[in-house]
This record gives sequence, C-alpha cells and structure tokens, in this order.
Amino acid sequence: MTDILSMTPQELEAFLTAAGQPRFRAKQVFAWLHRGTPFSGMTNLPASLREYLEAHCEWRVPEIACKQVSALDGTEKYLFRLIDGNCIESVLMRYKHGNTLCISSEVGCPMGCRFCASTIGGKVRNLTPSEMLGQIIAAERSTGERVDNVVMMGIGEPLDNYDNVIRFLRLVNHPDGLNIGYRHISLSTCGLADRIRDLAKEDLPITLSVSLHAATDEARSAIMPVNRRYPIAALLSACADYYAATGRRISFEYTLLAGQNDSPADARRLASLLRGAFSGRDFGKSAPIHVNLIRVNEVSETPFRHGTEESVRRFAEELEKHGVTATLRRRLGADIDAACGQLRKKHADAQQAPAAKGEPKPKEPEETEPAAEE
Ligand code: SAH
Repeated sequence: MTDILSMTPQELEAFLTAAGQPRFRAKQVFAWLHRGTPFSGMTNLPASLREYLEAHCEWRVPEIACKQVSALDGTEKYLFRLIDGNCIESVLMRYKHGNTLCISSEVGCPMGCRFCASTIGGKVRNLTPSEMLGQIIAAERSTGERVDNVVMMGIGEPLDNYDNVIRFLRLVNHPDGLNIGYRHISLSTCGLADRIRDLAKEDLPITLSVSLHAATDEARSAIMPVNRRYPIAALLSACADYYAATGRRISFEYTLLAGQNDSPADARRLASLLRGAFSGRDFGKSAPIHVNLIRVNEVSETPFRHGTEESVRRFAEELEKHGVTATLRRRLGADIDAACGQLRKKHADAQQAPAAKGEPKPKEPEETEPAAEE
C-alpha cells in the first residue's frame, strides 16, 4: 500500500501517470488529500480513479481516540490512534494570534530526558510525514477551524526522525496543501548538534527551539542523557553557527526544577553561558537568543517538582538583569491532561490494567501542571 499523503506533488504525478492518469490529476488529488477528504469523497475524479486509490493507498490521517477540551481556555488535547494502533498526542492552543497545534514527531521517544513522560517507554517508531500532516488535518476537521501555527514539541525528538520531519515541513508549507508559513512553525530539539547543523543548510526559515534546561554539563547530563553525546559547548557552537547561517533567533527552553536548576546563581550561570556562546561573533547589538522558562509538569514517575511563583519570578529577573530576555510560558489547559506524553501513557496503562478496558478514563484532577504553553 502506498503512503500517498507523504508524497511530494512530483512523486504524486509520477504515481498517477504510471496508473494511466493525465498529469493534471496530481494537483487535484494533492489538494483533496491535504484537506483530509477520503478517496471516496474526491468528487472531481473519475470513479475508476477513486477505486484505484482506495485499493492501492493507505489512509494515514489519524483517528481521534479521545479528545479533551479545557473549560478554562478552550485548549484541546487529542489522543490520536494511528493506522497500526499506536497512539500519539497533539494539543490545540487558542491564542489571540491564532490557533497553534503542538504535534508529535515519533511514537515514544529515545532521548531519555528524566523529567519527561513521553520517553518512559522508549521509542516505538518514527512518524511518517503523512502522520505529522494528519494531526493537523484531523484537528482542523474536528474544530472546523484553521491551524495557523505549528510547534513540534509533542511526543518524540524531531531531529531523530530527520528525513521525515524535513519532508513534512516542505509539505505543510505547500501552497496547494495546508500552506502554513515557515515563520509560523517552531521545531524543538533536545540538542542533536550535528542535526542542527544539517537543518541550517535546509533553507527553512522556521524557529528553532533548543531544550537546554541546565547551565553546566554536570547538571545537564544528570537530567538529559543526550548531553553526554553533545555537551553544552558543542551544542551552543552548533546553535551559534545555525544563527550565523540562517539569521534566525534561537529560543532556549529552560524547565525550572525546584532545588535543581532554579536558583538565582543558576540564572546567572545561564545568562553568562548564553552570552558567552554568542559573543565574539559579529551579531550586532541584539543577542540572537531568547529564553522560554517552563514550570515543570510534574510526572508521577519522576522526582521533579516545580518551585514557587516567587522563585520563578526571581529567576526571570536575574536573567534579564544579566542581559538575557526571558518569557515565562503561560499555562493552558490546566484542567485537562495537557502535559506532553501523559495522555498516551495513561491510555497505555489503562489498556494493560484488566479493570480499565475501552476508552481511556478521564482521571481525577491531577496535581500536575499542564505542558501546553505559549
Ligand atoms: N524532543 C524535543 C521536543 C519534544 S519535548 C525536545 O526535547 O525539545 C518539548 C519540550 O517539553 C522540551 O523542552 C522538553 O524538555 C519539555 N518537557 C518535557 N517534559 C516536560 C515536563 N515534564 N515538564 C516541563 N517540560 C517538559
């Protein structure tokens, strides 16, 4: 079976002409596919072609297994079931500047960050480009609204699934498809430095976010195993090169973990680290960096807890005092399981427990904080 939604327009044209179709059909089929129309609903195609597609092609737009809507702010959390029964998550956040969908790039994650629920069972497989597009298509069909912005901050490490992610980015930007501008797309990575250098060469003006979360190698290696492969100096040198090649400002994600990385001294270390990494390069006056502070979403399997409002505020102030701008992410979806990887994990746990078959049960309100953020 052909994964037709992952095809570029050129590949689609070759596929359809090989099946005896005229070339103009490719544009029609491409537009239908990216709107999420099933083969049977592609009304301007001859019935014989619709049957051909049905017989030879897979439908990889995921099914909604469960959807939770926040009564507080309209945030929507989707648990999607893929063609092989695996589940992933997406979160739709409503902002003044439009709808932002946070999508997954892999089933599970191989990176092993200690505070993250998505990596607890390891990585199961890559998502195909069609399954990444499919999350957007399914959310648009479910809400009847357009997705304006996409953030690759759901389950998985996008740069670990590099080729599929690059193909997805080119497809999602296509004017005959979803037509989402690169400047409306952010990609978050735990720091695969070699892949950041590769990404710099792709000529994709997206926003790169780098999950830093600590300012020393010792502290970072303790919570992010990837740091042993790409220590902070190697990562930041790749980031500086990325900025030099693309001119695109980089966001650094910093999750505050109480008592571990959230003291004013940690803030000073972070500021001097970032300023140092980007100094000595001819970047003019403005630092090409920004820090997003995140309150950790407490995951019951992990020991990490969030600090007080006061400690978060002091951390941000200390950063600014030392010349690094920071934003504290707004919390959305506080009443639903918006934290990355938690819904999928709960669903898997419920299926294992004999008493809890069927639909994933809505859980009692958790003490956790949500991950869906600005
Ligand atoms: N693998 C990529 C993208 C997915 S994770 C990455 O590491 O960047 C998206 C962001 O959520 C990352 O910054 C990640 O470190 C953060 N994150 C994961 N679990 C979290 C938790 N429990 N609390 C707060 N942030 C978390």
